[in-house]
Amino acid sequence: MNAIAIDGPAASGKSTVGFTVGQRLGFVFFDTGVMYRAVAWAVLEHGIDRADGEAVGQLAEQLRIEVDAPASDLSDGRQATILVGHVDVTWAIRSPRVDSIVSVVAANARVRRELTRKQRGIGLAYGSGAAGKAGIVMVGRDVGTVLLPEAPLKIYLQAPLEERARRRFRELVERGREADYDRVLEDMRLRDRTDSHRALAPLRPAEDARQIQTYGVTVEEVVEQILALAAALLGVTPTSPEE
Ligand code: C5P
Repeated sequence: MNAIAIDGPAASGKSTVGFTVGQRLGFVFFDTGVMYRAVAWAVLEHGIDRADGEAVGQLAEQLRIEVDAPASDLSDGRQATILVGHVDVTWAIRSPRVDSIVSVVAANARVRRELTRKQRGIGLAYGSGAAGKAGIVMVGRDVGTVLLPEAPLKIYLQAPLEERARRRFRELVERGREADYDRVLEDMRLRDRTDSHRALAPLRPAEDARQIQTYGVTVEEVVEQILALAAALLGVTPTSPEE
């Protein structure tokens, strides 16, 4: 199976690194977090109490979430277009409000059951060459442990909390949003704790995951490190960076 699992805490570099690795290998890139964010967005939109497990679970089971390649005329920096029903929520799911409830929503057993089923299906299909893609790079919290434990290459990215909060803060500012660094830091600390301590599929490295530190190294260096592992373990050859 041609699958690369990349896990790690918020803003550890999963999407930036994973997207580029996918491009260099001709693999589809799939960020599993967007689906949890889409459910969290819908919880807010419908005015549902995030602590109401029944209502949140039911919503997740009914929701139509679509993750598509962006239209070629869109150049706003998106890696994918996320639709809930017919609403484009690509940027709305990145709001601090969604950030602050998504971990609670993601700990819900029915939400996890529903999204795990869909995501494993996507991973298995592309991992075996669906739609002409050579494979899949899947990123999230439980890809190596739960979604695709059979992936031949598993990566766990790490960076110190303060560095990750700085990255998220910069992203928000660059998108023209109001942001308060201390708030971002506290929200991230809380999200780390909820994601790592939940009963179902907690954030942790798979036993055979390679741990990579993304602080103090460039994105390109991390990408090259993963590509070298992919060449050794999957036998795939990347295109050069400028291609
Ligand atoms: O990766 P991102 O920060 O966008 O993920 C948002 C949230 O979705 C995480 O904090 C986590 O609670 C949840 N998530 C998860 N399992 C995944 C991906 C994301 O529980 N595979």
